[in-house]
Amino acid sequence: MAYSFEPIGIVHSCFAEKFAIPRQPLLAPAAQGVIELYPPYDKPEAVAGLEGVSHLWLLFVFHAAASGDAHLRVRPPRLGGNRRIGVFASRATHRPNPIGQSVVKLDGIADGRLLISGLDILDGTPLLDIKPYVPYADSIPSASNALAGLPPAPIEISWSDQALTQASAEARRLDRPVVALIEQCLAQDPKPAYQKPSPSREYGGRFWDLNVRWHYLDSSLLRILSVERVDPTH
Ligand code: SAM
Repeated sequence: MAYSFEPIGIVHSCFAEKFAIPRQPLLAPAAQGVIELYPPYDKPEAVAGLEGVSHLWLLFVFHAAASGDAHLRVRPPRLGGNRRIGVFASRATHRPNPIGQSVVKLDGIADGRLLISGLDILDGTPLLDIKPYVPYADSIPSASNALAGLPPAPIEISWSDQALTQASAEARRLDRPVVALIEQCLAQDPKPAYQKPSPSREYGGRFWDLNVRWHYLDSSLLRILSVERVDPTH
């Protein structure tokens, strides 16, 4: 038996590319986005009652995940990229059915669009469903996970003067918390775990329409080198 689903909407997010997106939601509270619902779900009736809800479960398609057969075992970046665990013990994007699930904060509802934050979702992601977070059922204080018990320890961030000045100016232009967004995401240490930190290797990521470049001074300290607006013709 096969089932097929149509997206009910799309997630517009601050993450224009996959690299440097946090590996789970709520790790970067400044990661903002908007849910645009498709007809007929773009009517107020479809979201009536959500005014009293602080967080949402989003079910979405990992539309930009690598295609091909899903493996039974995966190598999560969290475990250093060289230890294999069962696909169902991981949140890997490459899985039998490429469905993602994230809890995000609902910041408001405006003109049928849902304003959300705390995202770990790529811009343009097709949305399959939205459900309200139910604290008494979804929060389990005694829950344990030996592989991912605590959030990864953040690394330290420093800025070049020029990059910070530029990020602050772009934050005013976009009316978004750009400085906090970049700091919160890079503090998650997005580089592949198998790469040794080296000041000679530069990394880049895209947040909104900004290209951000950084390098590592050591394994626990990263320096942001530049923030530049992406040429709109590219
Ligand atoms: N919280 C979700 C879950 O558990 O299903 C996602 C976890 S997954 C490990 C998070 C990563 O998915 C992000 O770091 C990002 O690189 C990737 N990602 C987000 N949206 C995606 C999309 N639409 N297609 C492919 N990869 C995506």
